[in-house]
Amino acid sequence: MRLILLGPPGAGKGTQAKILIEAYGIPQLSTGEILRSAIVAKTSLGLEVKEIVDRGDLVSDAVVNGIVSERLDADDCKSGFILDGFPRTIAQAEALDMMLVDKGMKLDAVVEIKADADELVRRVIQRARELGGVRADDNEEVLRKRLDVYKDQTAPLVAYYTEDGLLKAVDGMAPVDEVTAAIRVAIAH
Ligand code: ADP
Repeated sequence: MRLILLGPPGAGKGTQAKILIEAYGIPQLSTGEILRSAIVAKTSLGLEVKEIVDRGDLVSDAVVNGIVSERLDADDCKSGFILDGFPRTIAQAEALDMMLVDKGMKLDAVVEIKADADELVRRVIQRARELGGVRADDNEEVLRKRLDVYKDQTAPLVAYYTEDGLLKAVDGMAPVDEVTAAIRVAIAH
């Protein structure tokens, strides 16, 4: 199963990915998590991207394309993967298409988790409280920025994958287990 989870910050991509990795025995590839661990570990990648991530902007396509391409070559991706947070721009989606052709892989589905903006702000503020400042980008101002970036740069992917016939939309406002059930139904068809 090769899946993309698409949706704005706070929609529940990470939560659903964690459940789906158990259900399907495939890894989650979260570019956000990879970048955050590089920042914490202060690797050269981390130092390069820290400021950009902290202010809610997108890291360059070249950087994230490279991360994903390398990660897809790992053994644990042989039986599938869940991409979470990538692609985030049309250019990244085009790069992914080329990578997958090169690697002889094909996507099964792109699941869009839909959510309304007010609920997203509420959830992310709640997450910031629970994590107690672990994520520098989880505050209201940076969140609004991330939502704008999503609308401008990432939302166009809905049309991109609709054209491919890969897009399945689920309602991200439902309780977690109902969202999981909807995703499982959507990707079974
Ligand atoms: P969210 O919880 O907002 O969905 P992520 O954890 O996916 O956020 O990503 C956090 C940050 O990491 C983004 O705001 C961005 O700076 C950077 N990032 C993650 N994935 C990408 C990507 N595919 N392209 C560019 N930047 C990315």
